Amino acid sequence: MSDLSGGTPSSRVRPALIAALTGISFFLTLSFIFSPEASSDKPGPGVAPSSAPVASQELPENIRASRYDFRLSESDTFYHIMSVLNVPGPEIKEIIDLSRPVYDLKQLRKDSVLRAFTKDERLERIEYRFSDYETLIAERDDSGSFRAFKSELPHEIKETLVTGTIENSLFSDGLKAGADAQAMMELSDIFAWDIDFASDIRKGDTFKIVSQVLYVEGAPVRTGRVLGAEMTNGGRKYSAVYFEGRDGGSYYDADGRSLRRTLLKSPLRFRRITSYFSNGRFHPILRQYRPHHGIDYGAPSGTPVESAGSGRVVFAGWKNGYGNFIEIKHNNDYSTGYGHLSRIAKGIRKGAKVDQGDVIGNVGSTGLSTGPHLHYEVKLASRLINPLSIKAVPDRAVSKSESQRFAAVREDIERKLSGEMSVAVNPAPSNTPQGVARR
Ligand SMILES: [Zn+2]
Repeated sequence: MSDLSGGTPSSRVRPALIAALTGISFFLTLSFIFSPEASSDKPGPGVAPSSAPVASQELPENIRASRYDFRLSESDTFYHIMSVLNVPGPEIKEIIDLSRPVYDLKQLRKDSVLRAFTKDERLERIEYRFSDYETLIAERDDSGSFRAFKSELPHEIKETLVTGTIENSLFSDGLKAGADAQAMMELSDIFAWDIDFASDIRKGDTFKIVSQVLYVEGAPVRTGRVLGAEMTNGGRKYSAVYFEGRDGGSYYDADGRSLRRTLLKSPLRFRRITSYFSNGRFHPILRQYRPHHGIDYGAPSGTPVESAGSGRVVFAGWKNGYGNFIEIKHNNDYSTGYGHLSRIAKGIRKGAKVDQGDVIGNVGSTGLSTGPHLHYEVKLASRLINPLSIKAVPDRAVSKSESQRFAAVREDIERKLSGEMSVAVNPAPSNTPQGVARR
């Protein structure tokens, strides 16, 4: 569940607190918010200012303390901020060392808030909220030396099921059904190789998502991992199960095949490469050096050519030197082109949908070609790239040794997606200060 504790603290500072801070803050020439104010001698975490600022000099000696909230910019360092507060160098280093088991103060995040309390111009305490519910506290004890520890807000991770039907767009209907923006983005990532979310989504398509939601102090803060999802798109059903295998977590379909698909290594089963991707090669017909931004595969005329990935045909027909040419737009910004074909398969025309491995045509020698071969090219975001440079995805399927464990996870998710099994609530430990670091 540790993935829920990451992210930038800025989004987690409660709106009420931000409003209170901005109301009393003024900007210094440095890029942080400097908000001196009166507060009690023993300030606790999350104590919001309750009244207008009072100059600390006006307060009696025993409760004279000042609080400073520094909104961090890219260039702010802990050392720099402490120097501004006149903290001696060795003491800054000591605080960093003591805090390290909880949080590395050399890794302050942009837009997060570092809070410091001083008394009589001496640093007494710092607070740094580094996750949705965790705050690093370093404070001076009675003997005058520092100690550092972690304070946690009460939190728990629940699982929720969101189901919906597309009326207008996946995004807006998802939000309407109760999912958040993050969950809808994840859903489109998970199925990116199977469904073209830009053009394939239709009214009446359905979706189901089981995901973790982090609750802090009883309120939902954000969606964590999507544990399982199901979509029907144009009458076809797609499902995804999150499974942590030996090589890490990934999404798989019901049969245990990875959903992180990639383009096929080659659109031909049996072939040899006769010409590589190059910026200058001698063209045998044109008899001049020209860039060759594709791969030529030598193969007998008639050899079936497969689509390297699922997608939509954007061109199928005669294209100058390419002869009979097919271009397919895949998801994830890739498109592939196939040239010199002797034949274009039935049904392969502009707008047609193809699946990975579908036969789209046959090897030939049409256009500017000296003999039967397939010219194959790949575009990434409209730029021709070397097809051989595309990295293969290593974990294409759940391994045999893990298949039983996968089946159990899949069944659990399927029951949750179907609503058969009420979605579990897993309370996490709350409000337990830990990691008291003392040298
Ligand atoms: Zn070629």
